[in-house]
Amino acid sequence: MGNTRWDDEYDVVVAGSGAGAMAGALAAAAAGLRTVVLEKTRVLGGTSAYSGSAIWLPGTAVQQRAGIGDSTEGARAYLRALLGDDEEERREAFLSTAPELVEFLESDPALEFTFQAFPDYFAAPGRLDMGRSFVPLELPVEDLGELADLVRPPVDRDRAGRGHSDKPMAQGRALIGRLLLALTATGNGSVRTETPLTGLVMEDGRVAGVEAGALRLRAARGVLLAAGGFESSAGLRAAHGVPGAADWTMAPDGANTGDAIEAAVRIGASTGLLDQAWFCPGLLTPDGRPAFTLGFRGGLIVDGSGRRFANESLPYDQMGRRIAAAEGPFHLIFDARSGGLPAISVPPLAMDEQVASGQWVRAATVDELAGRIGLPAGVLAETVERFNGFAGKGSDDDFHRGEDPYDRYFSGGRPCVVAVDEPPYFAARVVLSDLGTKGGLRTDPDARVLDGSGRPIPGLYAAGNTSASFTGPVYPGPGVPIGSAMAFAYRAVQHIRRNHT
Ligand SMILES: Cc1cc2nc3c(=O)[nH]c(=O)nc-3n(C[C@H](O)[C@H](O)[C@H](O)COP(=O)(O)OP(=O)(O)OC[C@H]3O[C@@H](n4cnc5c(N)ncnc54)[C@H](O)[C@@H]3O)c2cc1C
Repeated sequence: MGNTRWDDEYDVVVAGSGAGAMAGALAAAAAGLRTVVLEKTRVLGGTSAYSGSAIWLPGTAVQQRAGIGDSTEGARAYLRALLGDDEEERREAFLSTAPELVEFLESDPALEFTFQAFPDYFAAPGRLDMGRSFVPLELPVEDLGELADLVRPPVDRDRAGRGHSDKPMAQGRALIGRLLLALTATGNGSVRTETPLTGLVMEDGRVAGVEAGALRLRAARGVLLAAGGFESSAGLRAAHGVPGAADWTMAPDGANTGDAIEAAVRIGASTGLLDQAWFCPGLLTPDGRPAFTLGFRGGLIVDGSGRRFANESLPYDQMGRRIAAAEGPFHLIFDARSGGLPAISVPPLAMDEQVASGQWVRAATVDELAGRIGLPAGVLAETVERFNGFAGKGSDDDFHRGEDPYDRYFSGGRPCVVAVDEPPYFAARVVLSDLGTKGGLRTDPDARVLDGSGRPIPGLYAAGNTSASFTGPVYPGPGVPIGSAMAFAYRAVQHIRRNHT
């Protein structure tokens, strides 16, 4: 036994409170382990609370109830086609855990899920055109009672310093709220907000607990690091070459600065995929922060030369990667029909406010618009004319926009190459945003953190964006970040339960 003086003792200490952290904490507490969730900020949920809470856990009872033809085998074929066999062990661990995890979660009265159509992101064997992800049911705020104030509000309200409205909590808030209800009901789980993990305590060659500022908290059975990535750290982004910017990430302000990754690296953990993120196009809002945008049903996006460079309707991570490879500044060009506004924008965008704030520029002609955003006039007019020609004949010869079911999903089956020819014209600045970095601690199929020799560090586990994703640089479908975070957090706890000495 070591001689650390502990301020509090638990079986399992979980750092972070996103969907993975909360699912792991629930699994531990439900198994009778004294569990604490440490959250750095004042509220729980991180980026998971901002999210649409799509969960990509294939082959479960939810897809069976929906009768959508999903199966573990189909999902395996899809993942194998996209990822090859590099991460076969973690892929298989993920696939085999999904049904069991969902059965465990849905056995709790606080948790229930329903299928929500949203296409998978790649044309590959095993793809389901309407997808296979699911979401939690909404949660009336009053069901949470005083716990409601602990859940991070939606992006727009949170950035404005406001709490929840009186509408039922939806999406990511419903997921975090429901996991919090379930965790609290076990009687073995507690949360400590404004308590950042700052270090790991080793005793006798294993991680025995954590430092949280001046506090020393013992974790008799294990520590689960699920404290997001380092998307909000300008320094770490630059050091690891992550495109985009800390100011343009969608993560909550000041939340995910890589603390848990760095704490583990200090005790010998190894890392991978550090230049990777879950990317997306962002449209800047009046406060200069990005809105996560997807489902471009019209308009066209041009680079710094005034030319198109990609199919604007690509799934957002793929579009983000095209932006990262091109030269900006980037603009969405659309017209009075507003067909250029994306189907989904988080937070929502209001045309009048965007124009009044100067984030969106309006002009009577395409040439005038080009001048106002600093593009060579002739080039933008030429680009728009060529694009309108594609709209007229119904095919995008340059980038094949509209040919994939994903492209058409958001335009309700209508063409998404629509002529931009009705003044006034608008230009909206597009930036490379992200939903979080996806590189971090290297882990094995049981989510054990590996050292530089590939050996597990006893007592230490990681999930979500604190770990290097098993999907590498690929974003297979809606809900993979949250689904994989939950699956590996759950596996960490199953390992902790099996392996206590
Ligand atoms: C608008 C939007 C929609 C999205 N929709 C989806 C979707 O539908 N499905 C999907 O799968 N993904 C979605 N994503 C992406 C997804 O939300 C994130 O990638 C995922 O939630 C990250 O989970 P995480 O647990 O790693 O991090 P987070 O959910 O960000 O949680 C990390 C938590 O750790 C805390 N923390 C940080 N450092 C410390 C520390 N030192 N000590 C203690 N706590 C710490 C943070 O404050 C934060 O609360 C969306 C993202 C956005 C922005």
